[in-house]
Amino acid sequence: MAHVVPIAVESVIPAPESVWRALSVPESAADHQRLQDLGRQATDRYQRLASPIGILQEISTDEFEGIFAGEGRNDPDSPLGLVYPLMRHLALFAVTIGQIITDEVSTLFDKRDFALATALDAVASEGCELASSKMEREFIHSLLAAVPSFPAAAVVRFSPGYCGWHLTAQHLLFQFLQPQCIGIELLNSCLMKPLKSISGVIAVGSKDILENAMTQPACLMCETKSCLDRISLITERQEQRV
Ligand code: SF4
Repeated sequence: MAHVVPIAVESVIPAPESVWRALSVPESAADHQRLQDLGRQATDRYQRLASPIGILQEISTDEFEGIFAGEGRNDPDSPLGLVYPLMRHLALFAVTIGQIITDEVSTLFDKRDFALATALDAVASEGCELASSKMEREFIHSLLAAVPSFPAAAVVRFSPGYCGWHLTAQHLLFQFLQPQCIGIELLNSCLMKPLKSISGVIAVGSKDILENAMTQPACLMCETKSCLDRISLITERQEQRV
């Protein structure tokens, strides 16, 4: 059964470096006083206006098969298609940091305060990523609580619209998870409202399987390799908790 995960905004405040990296600001420029002031202003506003919350539900491989297939429009070489049947555990998740932030970014653009609007938008995107990581940790904690001697495993999350998983899979994901109960709607375009929301599946299993999947054509052509930033190991987390 899905459970709602409250997230304290203080726990999902992005580091300035990650925000400037997302905006492709060179490291040398990030030290400028004006940029630092802008970053602080954007972060203060984010902290005041964001209302992060998530929902999580473990799902069997058989249940996920239909959600992954979606409307039959996936890339046949999708690495997720190879990975999920071999994973030990899967969970659907959705997180949002709320609508107010998006409204505030629009208002700032309307007022032609482009610098603050852009900085706040980047802080909000990074904050939403941190909220997704929180959902991963929540899932891992629930697995560790059930099986304290959990064998070493890798954890990574995938979202519709990436890694060959077609965006239209959102329809079945939403039917199963019902993130509407935390205020996330699915639009006809398959984008989510609030815009700063992330949905997907968290996969827990062998690191070798994940690495093998990354030899697929879709991965060889992938420019971001963003999964590398997202793969983490349960054994490390256990050590961190001790
Ligand atoms: S390499 Fe790219 S396409 Fe492949 S799993 Fe990683 S992020 Fe997805």
